[in-house]
Amino acid sequence: MMREFFLGFIKVHILYHASRREVCGVEMMEELRRHGYDISPGTLYPALHNLEKWGYLESRTEIVGGRRRRYYRATRKGRRALEEARNKIRELVGEVLE
Ligand SMILES: [Zn+2]
Repeated sequence: MMREFFLGFIKVHILYHASRREVCGVEMMEELRRHGYDISPGTLYPALHNLEKWGYLESRTEIVGGRRRRYYRATRKGRRALEEARNKIRELVGEVLE
């Protein structure tokens, strides 16, 4: 059950960061750990792929130190989804944290 919640929170985090600048999986994993999410690549990468599949993120690959690294950024659709999520979060926080 908690996993269900966290998967949603994680996607909002990803969208938020990818709307500010390009992010790669490794950086996002560190960022989420900093926020207290004990996240594995097996959870993070499918979340990134789904966000891209739904058109919320777009990616490009770059070779870094001989390894392919994929960088993601939010699309216009992703920014709109983030805006909607923000409104819902504001409303939820207003009620749940009262
Ligand atoms: Zn964050």
